[in-house]
Amino acid sequence: MSSDKQDTVKTICPYCGVGCGIQVSQGDEPGDVQFMPWGDAPVNEGRVCIKGGAATEVVDHEDRLTDPLIRDDDGEFREATWEEAYEYIVSELERIRDEYGPDAMGFFGSSKTMNEENYLLQKLARRYGTNNVDNCTRMCHASTVWALRTSLGAGAMTNSMRDLREAADVFWIQGANPGEQHPIANSQYFRQAVLEGATVIQVDPHANKTTRSFQIDDTDRHQHLQLNPGTDIPLLNIVLKTILEHHADHPEDGWVDEAFVEERTEGFDHLKATLEEFDKEAAAEECGVALAAIELAAEKYATADNAAIFTGMGMSQHACGVDNVQNEINLALITGNLGRPGTGVNPLRGQNNVQGTCDVGAMPNVLPGYQLVDDDAARESVEDVWGFEVPDEPGLTNVEISYEAGDSVKGLYVMGENPVMSEPDANSVAERLADLEFMVVQDIFMTETAEYANVILPATTWAERGGTVTNTDRRVQRMRGVGKVHENTRHDREILTEVGTRLFEEGFDFENPEEIFEELRQVCPSYHGMTYDLLGEEGLHWPCYELGDEGDPFLYEDEFDTESGLGHIEGVEHTPPAETPDDEYPLILTTARLEEHYNTGTMSTRSPTLNRQTPENFVDVHPDDAARYGIEDGEYVKLRSRRGEITLEAHVTEDTKEGVVWTTPHFAAASANKLTNHVLDDRAKIPEYKAAAAEIEVDVEP
Ligand code: SF4
Repeated sequence: MSSDKQDTVKTICPYCGVGCGIQVSQGDEPGDVQFMPWGDAPVNEGRVCIKGGAATEVVDHEDRLTDPLIRDDDGEFREATWEEAYEYIVSELERIRDEYGPDAMGFFGSSKTMNEENYLLQKLARRYGTNNVDNCTRMCHASTVWALRTSLGAGAMTNSMRDLREAADVFWIQGANPGEQHPIANSQYFRQAVLEGATVIQVDPHANKTTRSFQIDDTDRHQHLQLNPGTDIPLLNIVLKTILEHHADHPEDGWVDEAFVEERTEGFDHLKATLEEFDKEAAAEECGVALAAIELAAEKYATADNAAIFTGMGMSQHACGVDNVQNEINLALITGNLGRPGTGVNPLRGQNNVQGTCDVGAMPNVLPGYQLVDDDAARESVEDVWGFEVPDEPGLTNVEISYEAGDSVKGLYVMGENPVMSEPDANSVAERLADLEFMVVQDIFMTETAEYANVILPATTWAERGGTVTNTDRRVQRMRGVGKVHENTRHDREILTEVGTRLFEEGFDFENPEEIFEELRQVCPSYHGMTYDLLGEEGLHWPCYELGDEGDPFLYEDEFDTESGLGHIEGVEHTPPAETPDDEYPLILTTARLEEHYNTGTMSTRSPTLNRQTPENFVDVHPDDAARYGIEDGEYVKLRSRRGEITLEAHVTEDTKEGVVWTTPHFAAASANKLTNHVLDDRAKIPEYKAAAAEIEVDVEP
């Protein structure tokens, strides 16, 4: 047991981006780590969902990695000392840089690790000489971040859960499922607003716990627009054109906020021109939703005092992901629904630190605080603190890095990520990682990715260490640890400190997470006004520029954070998914996640409580498709795409549309990502997880 053991600590749930506070208590034995509620936690006031309540179950799981492992010449892993592991890592990193140059290495940060750790990893990559550093936001909200940053100023929620709960009259929830993915945000904030009269418009191809939590039945004030996957742009264009048409006939109704458009935006004419020839009837048919229902939803949004958009991966994970989110921004801007409580465009972030991992610069095109690497002044201001030059060209994204594995990329440093499960077309990802000359993985379990590593370093879990994380509404909060369960494991920051110091001698010698945070705040303007003391137990929302700033719960009250200070409107046209159904693959496959599991399942599938709920993957099939294929509910089927096949149980349900099959990426034995398409959005490089062509085979063995 580590000597820095504390008996009970207040910390943050390691799962989703809501950022619920929980307590962890440490019993007499190292493995006796228990969950306790934190009654006055700032975000959740003691409530947790099933994942939060079960989070401590994996801390002392029997599968924990407890010692460094090195792959021997015979291909088998053997236990090694830390000294041996460090020497090997440093010598391979130096060899690769000498032989091929620094861009032959890639670095993967992790949204499951803390701000300080991701800050250190991206600094290590840049000191090594490359901007090839990225994190899994690339797979979830890279397109959202791109659109929000470009058109409004910051790649984050414009508002906070609290002001949305207090002031929003309409929640427009498109491609997001807070009922399942952000359960406490949904129950404690959004559902309370709905109980007091707010209206929900849900736009999603799949009925889910959000649909059920608001009892959306299409006849009441709430609506579920169950569109075909990949038709979000035509649906929003119908909404936008309906608002413009009504405003032309009845300007006195104010559906378009003319003053806001005039004073605070640019590009309105472009939007009007884009929609001039747009055919609403044809578009509604393509969406598979009645035109009248979409027009009614448009009226509800446009006539609300305060309307808020929630956007999720159903919007971002498309080859047109940036355009999808831009169209939501268009809707908010023309109706003046930005810059005050209860409004905005609000991405619900997936992991507990995906916001912070981006904030601290673990991305190939930005330094801490979203300062562009190719902006000379910004880069030089960071270099002044760091004392070394940063490459001035953006690096490769994580999907690009793994596609270059074995070619231009020879080595990979992975902290807490699992690309063999998380990236699309997973079978080929595994093949390419096998072609690397060297890979090091820091993790708590032997992941599907670690199996291809040369060195595996046993890290500590979330409950054993301290640092900060940033939740979905930009609240930076402290995590605190109870001390190590396994003595020979090391915190991610300790490992990076050691590797950095051995490689470069200077710049990585930090004693504790607070020292790292102190440096981070010098190079990250929106965190500059934060210290560990000021964060306290409440945390602070960024931006927080100076000591004493209280942080902003909502953004853009007076102006947008763009060069012109204006919000950018830009009309967008429909781009169908890269793969559409054909004779060979006549179904549309779409993917999403479950409440009781978490991304690649590394933690959640090892949690007895969570696994009891859903122990294996399944596919939702519409009853008409089931009848056509002769599928019984509960029967095992084979689901195929051009990239692979998985065998899983069929659930026959009207939750999905006819012609659309729906499954999840959580389970290694039958992961959806063996089937998904690796086509990318041109700008944000996010893969199109949400639409691929597929086929079902019946009469298969489980
Ligand atoms: Fe954890 Fe999210 Fe559940 Fe809160 S809502 S307990 S942060 S998984």
